[in-house]
Formats: sequence, structure tokens, C-alpha cells
Amino acid sequence: MRNPRIGVVSLGCPKNQTDTEVMLGLLNQAGYEVTFDNEEAELCLVNTCSFIGDARQESVRTLVELADQGKQLIVAGCMAQHFKEELLAEIPEARAVVGTGDIEKIVSVIDSIVKDSSLRVVEVSDVPNDYTDEVLPRMMTGVGASAYLKIAEGCDHRCTFCIIPMLRGDFRSRTIESLVKEARVLVNTGVREIILVSQDSTYYGLDIYKRQALPELLEKLHEIEELDWIRVMYCYPTETSEEFLKTMARLPKVVKYVDIPLQHSHNEVLQAMARPINPGKVVERIRKLVPGVKIRSTFIVGFPGETDEQVEHLAEFIAEHKFDRLGVFTYSKQTEVSSGSMPDQIPERAKKSRRKKIMSIQHEIAYKLNQQMVGQVIDVLIESYDDKKNHYVGRSQWDAPNIDNSVYVTDPEGNRCVLGDFSRVKITEAKPYDLYGEALEDLVPAKDLPAKSLASV
Ligand code: SF4
Repeated sequence: MRNPRIGVVSLGCPKNQTDTEVMLGLLNQAGYEVTFDNEEAELCLVNTCSFIGDARQESVRTLVELADQGKQLIVAGCMAQHFKEELLAEIPEARAVVGTGDIEKIVSVIDSIVKDSSLRVVEVSDVPNDYTDEVLPRMMTGVGASAYLKIAEGCDHRCTFCIIPMLRGDFRSRTIESLVKEARVLVNTGVREIILVSQDSTYYGLDIYKRQALPELLEKLHEIEELDWIRVMYCYPTETSEEFLKTMARLPKVVKYVDIPLQHSHNEVLQAMARPINPGKVVERIRKLVPGVKIRSTFIVGFPGETDEQVEHLAEFIAEHKFDRLGVFTYSKQTEVSSGSMPDQIPERAKKSRRKKIMSIQHEIAYKLNQQMVGQVIDVLIESYDDKKNHYVGRSQWDAPNIDNSVYVTDPEGNRCVLGDFSRVKITEAKPYDLYGEALEDLVPAKDLPAKSLASV
């Protein structure tokens, strides 16, 4: 009997995307045919997200749509970990559920349901703390010359709004050796930018090495010759140490970009969230120690008990610190975590209007900051070409994929931009969340540029 063709949908965050890529890599290695066109697939692997209400709805919608098209389903990821019984009961097409700590069993799960068409398989560890340090095969699903490298799984913090530790377990770092080995494999396939992801990247190493080992990891990755950019996502305020920031400032390939979710400015709200207080201090530390840095942060409005005065405090904090990139989420109530039962839950309408207020302040700030880029010459990693608009689309070192600004680049001579490579671009126009520019003749690979030119533009 022919093995079924396997389609895939990966939902949620970049960490989930790396899990999807590992599962596809294992299936491919085991001889299964993987297709990115679900029309052609008999069996679909859906790696779900269960972080907040909207993410759950999207996961359920995706499963129902595929089931309606007659596809058999393998449900993996956070929703499988969270709602295994409900999924099996409600979706007859769900042939298997695979938890967040069980992704390496994907081949045996699919082997079993292929052999026995009446079987439904559940592989969900109660506490998803298993984690291998092996370099597993990966089938890339992203576009361009960037790849995520998941440096750890789980989280040791217990923010009162967050369900992640329940779904992903405690923090488990991979070893430096394993990560460098995987990074080399990725770079050998043409990857130019490695993006380090985890729930809390600055915590890296505290479990296995008993010290913050992110600076050491960055040093080792920096030695990979063909690698151009190293990006760190998800820093935690109290662990964003001087040593880490000084390492970022010193190593030219480590992009001068700090992604640090602060969640709120007001200490009482932060205490209710079980988050570090006084967030302004870390912002000042980052700006002092990393010349040319751009900071991305995210905030939550509408946390239970948040008052109008506390929203005003947040508005003033954002106006004062002028974040280069900023996201604002409305609080999403979840009954499984302690904030779900806190008094004074905020009505949805008020949450949305608070979000709108903060975003309108940020809109002005982002526009002014982007205007300062006009006339500058920067390196842009070219990722796609839009033939309708006749321009390339890329990113600067200060922009993470699918989150931050894009740079739209025209190439007047038609020979200055190459997909998956860097171009030197003169910025000619700026909008609040995008830049426009023209490719220059000077095609200097970013890694050959002196550290100063990368840090100071
Ligand atoms: S640090 Fe992030 S992942 Fe960990 S509990 Fe807090 S919000 Fe969740």
C-alpha cells in the first residue's frame, strides 16, 4: 500500500514553526512524501497554537476546514497538549494527537495509523518535559535566507497571564555544541541569518550550565564564517545582563536589535502579572550599552484591575522611551491561569479602546523614527520580489521577519538585488511601519563590513 501524502499547516509562533520543520524532516527521512499543497494531501499535520483565545479559534477553524475537505488529521502542538480529549471527541477526522514534548514520535504515530485504518493514536506526555539535544533533520518552511534556531524549550517563569509553562513545561536548554552543529548545517544550505528563539532566550544555560550562557553561544555562532546575521528574540527584563548587551555591541554579526517584551510600565500591574518591575531601567541599560540599537517591545492592556491612571502611565512611558518597534495586545482571559480568576476583569470594549490609544501614540513615534532613516544607506537582506509592483522586498538588521518593517527596494539597473543576498540600499521614503529605497551599485557582503558600519547607521 502506498504511504499517504502528508500536507502541513503550521500555526502560532516561530518556536512552533521549528517543531513543524523537525516533524517534516523526520517524516521525509522516513520516506513519507510531504506536500505544501494541502489539496494533494490525504493526511494533514496541523501544528496548533493555544496561547490565547484568538489563536485557539484559528486552530479550530483550520482543523474544521481541512476535515470538511475530507482530510484525515494529525493534531500536534499546544492545542493537542491542552485539549487532547476534546479534540478526539469533537473531530472524528483527528486520527492522532501529538503533544509538545512528543514531536519526535511523529513517524511511529503515522506508521501506526497507516497500518491500521481504524486506529486513533494519542501521544501526549502529561508533563511535556522531554527534550532531545540531538540535531534532528529539518525541512524548511520559511522563505528567504533566514532560519530559526530553537535554543531551549519551556519556561521557568510563571507570569500570571501565561499558559506556556503548562503547555511546554519547564525551561530546558540545548547544549552549545548541538546548537552550533545545527547552525552550521543550516548555513551550509544557504542560510544567512540565524534567529535564536525560545520562551526566554536570556535564561539560556541557567539550567544546564548554571550560568547565563547566551553570550558564550553568540561567540561560538559568530565564528561560523558564512553566517552574516545572528538575531536574538525574546529577552526577559531582569536577565538582559550587561555581559549579554556588551557581547551584542562587540560582535558585528549580532544584529543591534533587542526584542524585550515588557508587558506594562506600572509597577502594580507588573506585580499582579508576576513580572519584573521598573522596566525603564532596562531600556536605559540597553540604549547605553549597545550603540545604534533598536528596541522592540510588547505590552498588554486590559489586565484585570488595570485603571485609567495605569493606562495613562503606560501611554507616558511609551511616549518617553520611544520604542522603535512596538506591539500592544489586549489581555486574553484564560481560566487555567491565576489572572483568569482575578477580580475586576476589564470589558472587551475598554480593552480595545486602550489598545487603540497606545497604538496611536506609537504610530506617531514610529513615523518620526522611520523619517530619520531617509537618506541613510543600510544593508538589506532581499527576501522576495513583487512583480506587480516591480520591487524587491527585504529587511534591515533592525527588523525581524513577519513582525517588523519591510524595506521595499527598487533596482534601477536590474542587477543589484539577488534573492537571499544582501544589497546596500539608500532609503528614499519612510512610512510608519515600512521603508522604501533604491539599491546601490556597491554590493558589499554584510559580513565584510566593519563593525562600525553595521552598528552606527
Ligand atoms: S516569561 Fe513569557 S513564556 Fe514565560 S511565563 Fe512569562 S510570558 Fe509566559
